[in-house]
Amino acid sequence: MKLKKENSLRIIKTTKEMQAISLRIKNKGINKIFVIPTMGALHDGHLSLIKKAKKKNIVTVVTIFVNPKQFNDKKDLNKYPANLKSDIKKLRNIGVDFLFAPKNHEIYPSNFQTKVIVEELQNHLCGISRKGHFDGVTSVVLKIFNIIQPDYSIFGEKDLQQLIIIKRMVKDLNIPIKILSHKIIREKDGLALSSRNIRLTKKNREIAPIIFKGLKKAKEDYKKNNLSSINIIKNLRKYYLINNINDIEYIEIINPENITYPIKPKSGDYLLVAVKLGSIRLIDNLKF
Ligand code: AMP
Repeated sequence: MKLKKENSLRIIKTTKEMQAISLRIKNKGINKIFVIPTMGALHDGHLSLIKKAKKKNIVTVVTIFVNPKQFNDKKDLNKYPANLKSDIKKLRNIGVDFLFAPKNHEIYPSNFQTKVIVEELQNHLCGISRKGHFDGVTSVVLKIFNIIQPDYSIFGEKDLQQLIIIKRMVKDLNIPIKILSHKIIREKDGLALSSRNIRLTKKNREIAPIIFKGLKKAKEDYKKNNLSSINIIKNLRKYYLINNINDIEYIEIINPENITYPIKPKSGDYLLVAVKLGSIRLIDNLKF
């Protein structure tokens, strides 16, 4: 088996080959491994995670797998954007070592039955409307960890609840992987980058920056007026409704340690929102 040449991306499609490569890198003490799990349609948010990983100067493995088990909505799964060719170009440009892009049957062979559930933390925020979503995430992430056996992995704060849940799983199951995080990367107008943004209608794309504007305004108001969580949430809801964001799934303030809801936010707590613009569900958050 040949290991990568300098600056060349190797594309691995099978679990067997990926596992063999990882074992060789690890067991022979050749290097450490950093895995960056994604669902593809790569944008600058993903690339910022990869750039942070590259700084460690160890082997980087990006995974692209649109995991059907984390889609509670079949329509969302079917419409999820895919652009492997352009993704590969981006990964080559940035100097990633391996792309692991398995087909569904590689991850879920027939008769697959196992699930990993982080019980409490999923019963909040996105987990309320997206039943089974986080079980799908934790199960596939653990599989990716077992196949690749990385020393490091990284997740975006954009999906804050996912980050909290994965950290919990790693701790609970004594998985010897260091989990890093990365701040949210945004468009110039403040909209958090997401693979789903390209599916917004022109009108909703114009409305979308209001999501982050509202979060920033709420934080400023809080600093000025020392408001309670209930009042911050009430004011933000009003601001969204006035500005054409009518379908609000939740606005919450949490302590990220264990997802509890402070009466008054303190530094380090988060304000999180999930809204729908047309059929597109968008999430965002801001740290106090
Ligand atoms: P996804 O492909 O949507 O599953 O995302 C893969 C990883 O990229 C996850 O850890 C996300 O939290 C992260 N990510 C997605 N969008 C952003 C963003 N705008 N800024 C930073 N990280 C992001």
